[in-house]
Amino acid sequence: MAIRVDPTLLDDMERYGAPDIKACFNCGNCTAVCPLSEGDDAFPRRMIRHVQLGQRDALAASKEVWMCYYCGECSETCPREAAPGELMAAARRFAIGRFDPTTLARRMFTSTAFNIGWMVVLFAILVGFLLGTSDVLPEGRVNTASLLEWIPFHVIHDMGLAVIIILGVLAVVALVNMLWLLSRETSAQGAPQPPATPSRFPLKAALLALGDMVGEVIRHRRFRDCQTAESRSDGPLPLRRRFVHLNIMFGFLGLALATVLDYLFKEPGSYVPLYYPIRLLGTIAGIALMYGATVAMIQRARKPERAYFDRSTVSDWALLIFLWIIGATGFVLEIAEYVTMSGISVDIVFLVHVGLAMELLLLLPFTKFAHIIYRPVALWYFAFRARRMGVIPNNMGFAEPQKESAA
Ligand code: SF4
Ligand code: SF4
Repeated sequence: MAIRVDPTLLDDMERYGAPDIKACFNCGNCTAVCPLSEGDDAFPRRMIRHVQLGQRDALAASKEVWMCYYCGECSETCPREAAPGELMAAARRFAIGRFDPTTLARRMFTSTAFNIGWMVVLFAILVGFLLGTSDVLPEGRVNTASLLEWIPFHVIHDMGLAVIIILGVLAVVALVNMLWLLSRETSAQGAPQPPATPSRFPLKAALLALGDMVGEVIRHRRFRDCQTAESRSDGPLPLRRRFVHLNIMFGFLGLALATVLDYLFKEPGSYVPLYYPIRLLGTIAGIALMYGATVAMIQRARKPERAYFDRSTVSDWALLIFLWIIGATGFVLEIAEYVTMSGISVDIVFLVHVGLAMELLLLLPFTKFAHIIYRPVALWYFAFRARRMGVIPNNMGFAEPQKESAA
């Protein structure tokens, strides 16, 4: 069957942040040095081939998009300076844009002006709504209790609920899109197929794959593999990208958990000591988040010798800045609980904190942050396929799986 080449995908990848890939002349160096490329996973060159041929669906459905943690090894050794590592990051943005039915993600990734403009407008709408429901400004000492009289708790609660419902619906639609495309493309590309659809859902394989996925997400094993290759010393542990990334991830998850527990077990605005378990969880998670986001921003700004962070996009920066500001404002509000503070500045900090937290969640499916929903589901899907074929997915079902023992 003749293959129809679509040259416009190369131009699109330029907009998604990989303009240099046009220089690639297919020497294969990048695949040879990639610490994660093995067996039939000849990436990043396979991704480059999809782009050169204009195979949009094959690119968006590629498992490698979710495997690569961007160590930069391939970009460093490319004789054409085609930055294949940047292509992997751009392909992730492209995939997120492909799965999003609203086209908002695509617009935000491909237009800096639209991205910044939309973030500003949405923030203004959210803050405007909060201010529209506010009461008189607190006087004297300002703490959570007085702030929740100024902007009533039920308003924040209802707004949060609406945001979570919108986020949930968008995420489900996008994930269904992704799974449908993964299923269609893995069949179309002639990959080994699981047995014909059984009469019952293969629950055991699904649960085992869930364990595979959770193990990978918690440990980020492939991220570690990227950095422990002999040629790749990423400096002392506190500065290693995997460690920094895990701080951001667990910091965010810890804060989200503390917020939920607060809601369930604590009277809104009531005083609790610093050692109260939920407060302690929030404080520790906040420190981890702030540490990770701060180091990640410094590393991006300084552009280390390694070839990663060559091209930070607005989307890369926006996520870190959002997280950093949410963390910093959260700490100011926590300090206001224990140290007497007053004045309009604390009110503004509160407004920024709530507005940005709502915006971060609303924009989650359309930004770099979307990888926290897509990556685990993609990892589960490929592990599930491997498990259904009776193999242990030693690389999350990606390459050279080992035969499962009889036990
Ligand atoms: S090393 Fe560079 S030129 Fe060679 S295949 Fe990879 S991207 Fe292309
Ligand atoms: S950035 Fe690293 S893991 Fe990703 S394709 Fe390049 S060499 Fe492989």
